Amino acid sequence: MTAFSTDPIIAIATAPGRGGIGVIRVSGPDLGAWAERLCAQPLRPRHAHYLPFRDRHGETLDEGLALFFPGPHSYTGEDVLELQGHGGPAVLRRVLEDCLARGADIGLRLAQPGEFTQRAFLNDRLDLAQAEAVADLIEASSTAAARSAMASLSGAFSAEVDALSERIVQLRMLVEATLDFPEEEIDFLEKYQAAERLGGVTAALDGVLRTARQGLVLREGLHVVLAGQPNVGKSSLLNALAGEDIAIVTPIAGTTRDRVVQQIHIEGIPLHIVDTAGLRETEDTVERIGIERSWAEIARAQVILHLQDARHPDDPLDADIVRRLPAGVPVLRVWNKVDLLGHGAGSADRSVPGQSGRHAGREAEDSSDPLLISAHTGAGLDALRARLLAIAGWMPGAESPWLARERHVRALEAAREHLQTAAGHAAHSDQVLDLFAEELRLAHEALCGITGQFTSDDLLGEIFSSFCIGK
Ligand code: GDP
Repeated sequence: MTAFSTDPIIAIATAPGRGGIGVIRVSGPDLGAWAERLCAQPLRPRHAHYLPFRDRHGETLDEGLALFFPGPHSYTGEDVLELQGHGGPAVLRRVLEDCLARGADIGLRLAQPGEFTQRAFLNDRLDLAQAEAVADLIEASSTAAARSAMASLSGAFSAEVDALSERIVQLRMLVEATLDFPEEEIDFLEKYQAAERLGGVTAALDGVLRTARQGLVLREGLHVVLAGQPNVGKSSLLNALAGEDIAIVTPIAGTTRDRVVQQIHIEGIPLHIVDTAGLRETEDTVERIGIERSWAEIARAQVILHLQDARHPDDPLDADIVRRLPAGVPVLRVWNKVDLLGHGAGSADRSVPGQSGRHAGREAEDSSDPLLISAHTGAGLDALRARLLAIAGWMPGAESPWLARERHVRALEAAREHLQTAAGHAAHSDQVLDLFAEELRLAHEALCGITGQFTSDDLLGEIFSSFCIGK
């Protein structure tokens, strides 16, 4: 796919499988005449026409609605035709294939993943952060994430970024103007209170960065490895943590992560949990592949939750488990089944042997005592939830009005660094105005990267290729 192709494109826009309705979407410049030929009737813009979907030989493949959205007032900014028929894979495929055959003369081809949204971006219907929010909304796994993705899609995040850009642009204009009059350079910074202005922008940027970090946690969540012997209560803990979210405690399907990662939510934050129960030596090839995948997931873990039976805290088999886990990942030690000890979690629990000991060769996540919980009674679970959210970087109660991606946070951090360097130049006695100006330019450029005003084709390709087909 060339980044700026304008070939007419077509795709099934609804999810694969059976459903009440299936939508086929076509986009391209000047589709009007072709769409009317295809539907064998005039199509009023933005009106639903109920009609039979007949193939080129006259056979009725399906019946449903045709909607024509002339550009630029369409999702992609081009002419768009939507055919809404029945949502069965065979019927949709037949309609799609017939459209492709009849679109050969206009160069109609199958759309790449995300190509409709990419066109919306290229035709200025959405900026890049909004386009990313389309994918994030589709992928949102919690109400909180969906709400924030929608806010990003409606431009809330972009508006914050644009406001920062605008303030930097104003400062740049003053500096650039002064650069043309070198004799004024010296008192420029004072005259225009440049340092104060810069401080103001930096403070505002810090606020956006804090929110973006929260938005990133909400989008990405926390990767947790759940390690522990059989029967220590791993499944029970997962269920207890999931709480009302229990319906979502299902293995994530997919070719690469099959039955490896489970996902639950705490306060809307997705926790991707790898259960290490299957990590054992095996002769079975399929199982071995599964185990290799588990290790790959473990390598991405941000924390290892090592669950033990509180009644046997010094079990040597636990020390073996910990030894096998990757180095460098913090370990959160959690002792389950405290209800069986005869006193609840949170008690001093000094009678538990070996509490202050650590497993040989590993540093625990912090030096505090292990968390004592009961998956059965719920004791200690609030503390565990709070600890997990803290490790994820989530500040409870803090707002996350929009979702953010890693690249957004990195761009904001880069912009912040340039503003700080600029401040350094301003504070220096032999102020170098052109260096100050250059740092402002770089900060501005970093921010523009978020909304896609300066974005390489490679990055665009990377972003849009992660979309689903038909979006
Ligand atoms: P897993 O093999 O580590 O996933 O362990 P399970 O969650 O299947 O639990 C093993 C057994 O321990 C089950 O009979 C659970 O009911 C029991 N169990 C789990 N957590 C607790 C707990 O906090 N207290 C008590 N008394 N029993 C528990």
